[in-house]
Amino acid sequence: MLLERPGRGPTSLRAVDARDVEPGPGEIALDVTACGVCRTDLQLCRGELAPHRMPIIPGHQAVGRIAAVGQGVSQWRTGDRVGVAWLAQACGECTHCLERRENLCVHAAFTGWDRDGGYATRMLARADFALSLPESFDDFAAAPLLCGGVIGYRALLMSGIRPGRPLGLFGFGASALIAIQVARHWGCDVYVCTRSERERRRALDLGAKWAGGYDASPPEPLDAAVTFAPAGSVVAAALRSLDRGGTVAVNAIHLDGLPPLSYDDLWWERSIKSVANFTRDDARALLTLAAEIPIRTVIETHRVEDAALALDRLEAGEIDGAAVLATN
Ligand SMILES: [Zn+2]
Ligand SMILES: [Zn+2]
Repeated sequence: MLLERPGRGPTSLRAVDARDVEPGPGEIALDVTACGVCRTDLQLCRGELAPHRMPIIPGHQAVGRIAAVGQGVSQWRTGDRVGVAWLAQACGECTHCLERRENLCVHAAFTGWDRDGGYATRMLARADFALSLPESFDDFAAAPLLCGGVIGYRALLMSGIRPGRPLGLFGFGASALIAIQVARHWGCDVYVCTRSERERRRALDLGAKWAGGYDASPPEPLDAAVTFAPAGSVVAAALRSLDRGGTVAVNAIHLDGLPPLSYDDLWWERSIKSVANFTRDDARALLTLAAEIPIRTVIETHRVEDAALALDRLEAGEIDGAAVLATN
């Protein structure tokens, strides 16, 4: 499914017959079976996220089996099941990479943004950026872990939340659905703010201590909060809910803007921090934790040809859990 021109939305995705792709040195070719649908894909189709390359095949939560390995690849064999996530490559040499913060690499490339992604029957990936997946997850259950799961996990780390402490989740889509399961596993009291009544009920079902709208304040000051909604007003609401010394981690690659903030809300060493991408260490840690908890996600599947329908449903807030495309 090829995106040729951004700005016209998901319906501009077009099914094309591409030449079979062969792996170059250090690469693997993957027969994709499942690919998760993410808000970032939607923002790319809408033109809200500036394109890096056109045309592009979106999709950065791909699961499949290795069909061929390129020269120099020794860690994988044909037939191995792997996941391919958002971070497609990093240089390994810049100061950020050397400090184990490859998510900040200035030469990083991203799946479905710089490199063709998983809305396809076959794709290429760098062998050293492919991920092993826990046995206990089938292809469809594993896909949503690869972006929503991993980035939500990094956002929890960035928020500085400690086990057993009060945490706020603002917005309650696919990523928050996984983050709440991790936070509950750590024994945190979780407070959820979201516009949708249905999502509030789901949050309570998953063990949230309280759920309300964005205009309601959690009944207890929060040590940390993670915002998932791509709206600056939600970041401001999260900031107002923090206890002294608390942090808001903003889990968004694109935000509609930031309203003027009152310095009184930031005073007492409160902070706002953006969360950019994730490292392979984050991904491996989350995948291990996901099997341990175990994390459960409600999946709705669509055929890859119906990617536009899945993205429309995501935009309309109609998806309970995560949408995954069946690609073979
Ligand atoms: Zn994503
Ligand atoms: Zn680097």
